[in-house]
Amino acid sequence: MKYVYFFGAGKADGTGEMREVLGGKGAGLAEMTRIGLPVPAGFTISTEACDYYFQRGRRYPKELRAEVAKHLARLEKLTGKKLGDAKDPLLVSVRSGSARSMPGMMETILNLGLTDRSVQGLAKATNNERFAWDAYRRLVQMYSTVVIGLPKEDLEARLRSLKDSLGVKDDTQVSAKGWQQLVNEYKAYFKEKTGRDFPQDPVEQLWGAIGAVFESWMGEKAVTYRRVERITGLLGTAVNIVQMVFGNTGEDSGTGVCFTRDPSTGEKVFFGDFLLNAQGEDVVAGIRTPLHLSELKTMMPKVYRQLDRVREKLERHYRDMQDMEFTVEKGTLYMLQTRTGKRSPSAAFCIAVDMANEKLITVEEALERVKSEDIERLFYPVLAPSLARAELASRKIAEGINAVPGAAVGKAVFTAHEAEAWAARGEKVILVRRETSPEDVGGMYVAHGILTATGGKTSHAAVVARGWGKCCIVGAEKLNIEADAKKMSVNGRVVREGEWITLDGGDGSVYLGEIDLVRPEPPKAYATLLKWADAVRKIGVRTNADTPHDARLARSMGAQGIGLCRTEHMFFKDFERPEKSIERQEAIQEMILAETPEARRLALDKLLPFQRRDFIGIFEAMDGFPVTIRLLDPPLHEFVPHDADKQAELAKKIGISPEAVARRVEQLHESNPMLGHRGCRLSITYPEILEMQVRAIIEAAIDCQKRKVKVIPEIMHPLVLDKKELQILDRATRRVADGIIAQSKVKLEYLVGTMIELPRAALLAGEIAEVAEFFSFGTNDLTQTTMGLSRDDAGKFLPEYVDERKAGIFKEDPFQTLDVEGVGMLIRWAIERGRKTKPKLKIGICGEHGGDAESVKFCHRVGMNYVSASPFRVPIARLAAAQAVIEDKKRSNKKR
Ligand code: PEP
Ligand code: MG
Repeated sequence: MKYVYFFGAGKADGTGEMREVLGGKGAGLAEMTRIGLPVPAGFTISTEACDYYFQRGRRYPKELRAEVAKHLARLEKLTGKKLGDAKDPLLVSVRSGSARSMPGMMETILNLGLTDRSVQGLAKATNNERFAWDAYRRLVQMYSTVVIGLPKEDLEARLRSLKDSLGVKDDTQVSAKGWQQLVNEYKAYFKEKTGRDFPQDPVEQLWGAIGAVFESWMGEKAVTYRRVERITGLLGTAVNIVQMVFGNTGEDSGTGVCFTRDPSTGEKVFFGDFLLNAQGEDVVAGIRTPLHLSELKTMMPKVYRQLDRVREKLERHYRDMQDMEFTVEKGTLYMLQTRTGKRSPSAAFCIAVDMANEKLITVEEALERVKSEDIERLFYPVLAPSLARAELASRKIAEGINAVPGAAVGKAVFTAHEAEAWAARGEKVILVRRETSPEDVGGMYVAHGILTATGGKTSHAAVVARGWGKCCIVGAEKLNIEADAKKMSVNGRVVREGEWITLDGGDGSVYLGEIDLVRPEPPKAYATLLKWADAVRKIGVRTNADTPHDARLARSMGAQGIGLCRTEHMFFKDFERPEKSIERQEAIQEMILAETPEARRLALDKLLPFQRRDFIGIFEAMDGFPVTIRLLDPPLHEFVPHDADKQAELAKKIGISPEAVARRVEQLHESNPMLGHRGCRLSITYPEILEMQVRAIIEAAIDCQKRKVKVIPEIMHPLVLDKKELQILDRATRRVADGIIAQSKVKLEYLVGTMIELPRAALLAGEIAEVAEFFSFGTNDLTQTTMGLSRDDAGKFLPEYVDERKAGIFKEDPFQTLDVEGVGMLIRWAIERGRKTKPKLKIGICGEHGGDAESVKFCHRVGMNYVSASPFRVPIARLAAAQAVIEDKKRSNKKR
């Protein structure tokens, strides 16, 4: 097996296509060499060697040493220099590079090959003693920290005290003697810490560096980055060993980083930074303030023109925005790297649309270029980039699961009630809870952000917050929340009610204090690209919305209907008239506490006008698009107070004894409420609830029809497990609905269908479809019940299941991205059986997966009619649906 690939003098063993094996950097170097760009020579050790290294308990493939030696000799021959030579030594850089770019996450060592002997040679050959000793001290510094793992600060402290003792501020003012002295100090420190001398054999140095680069693949930073960016399935990092060229040999030298287009705005301008007389890491480390690329034009016009031609050539060659590193050594330009440039979400849209308009790429390629994360990040506010990193780090107090991205700032409050009270006074609040329940929706709604100590990405808090596009961090387990004492503590710091905190839902960080936020404005290209997506996609995209406001928002995001309206949230909050919320809450509580069907009916009669009003608002917002309304789903205990004070208060309001309230609450208690008296079981045992809800839906629809607002209501029963059960519900629904329609003399069509949320329902879908007019997969519950994992508690251990360094059992959190193998098998089966019974059966998905790009693609492949996503995820679904069509096309082209 070949593990090493050479490039140099216009020829390369590898190509730009070989990213998987050579990593992005290695593939870029090979390709740039092939197309005749000025690239220093070198060789790449493949990612396959890295894979071998980790698979075999950190051992190198046995042929690797010989291969490296052979290619090193080839490099020495080509350059006419020898590693470690006492006269004119070859120096190399050793740099990481995986198939997907992971900027700054892995290691680099420069100037390798310098020793006590060869530093003299370098001084002579370059006639620049200062430069040679500076290069050597950089090597010792990098080698000590990266290969050996000595603390950076210790070495930096030595550099600082050297500069102090010399009375200089900048590195550029340190003399040859000064650097020599620092090398000696570093070496002494090296010996003190390791018990060995700094290696004087350059080949030993080389292997130390190769090992360190491999190891950095499994370093914490890199592993975390891959998890956050959902990078999976890579072999490892490649190692690039490249002849050093120097940007720090004088004022006719320099080094820089540039982009073929502006990575923040996407504008087609040449964009970049450079430093004169500097080495690569000086630009990245930000030690000196770099100059704008436009200044290179005046300082080195010839080099600038050459670089601009390289820019053109690379962008045309790769047909994407490139991020390039270059070095100018004594007026000669060298390209050290090219890769697909990282870009802001807004730039991603602009570049894709511009390139399609420029005919550099096709519309389909433009659609493939934008990622769901780009859309997500486009809309959420983010921390203003003005705050220094160190300041930010010092303010961080905790970390949780980043359930909904974006950022939020507010004063900490610890109950939903307080949140509402504070918000009513015009305060911005962050609601901090151990966990949330439907009772908290009012407080959640007014809060700017939500932070919970427990829960995962589909916990109640996460689902509700996502629906509103509200920043939410869950499962911050280190938080010790004392709601009664109105405070929380974490690692010895106490945050009391009213203190400012800032949440970054992008990475799950919690900060003390008020940090400025900015909300990005979507660029024009966003609308263009999504219009293109709509023209391509086949599957419909609806939204999960519970209020007229959300329904309108979702329409503006491109939703074509509602796939799930959860009616229970309406019981707690009047979103249009907040002062009415309390009446709703009392009515539902009265209904639950009622001891007879009559008493229950009376309470339900109070709820009826509220629900009807909400439905009218939603129908109006959807204006002719279908609206699926789900009847009551959560267990009733979620709606009643559990502490004695609140129970007494409630008892007084509705005129029964506190004991009666307590007794009823006790009766409602269940050990496992998720598998208890919930879903359509409620309608079976309390048909009055069904009757009221169906009445509200149909009366609202008739009201709209009369005013020429077209309505297509779809009444949906949750958690059905049997055909007979659905038959009972269907008959009850139709009896009420048809009665009202007949009386009204208005023509109204409606559908009655079911959610598929239980394995039994999926397995018996063929029979259930005899009754149901539509299926909607509730994949939150279907995942929970298929896997036997609680959606509210799995956050405690799931991170370990998806962490490749730990158990690594799942690639993704199954509550976030559909488990295509397991849950997906049930879905396929249910669709097949359902359509066998009713070929035109309408089928959709309304679990959280409806807004996850990969899951949307699955839904397309299995032939669903639509997906339903929370409003802010509607554009993600639209784009993913188009990408699914493009992927299909590619697959069938390949087969042919
Ligand atoms: C589901 O279970 O997927 C669903 C949409 O219902 P809920 O999240 O309200 O249980
Ligand atoms: Mg459900």
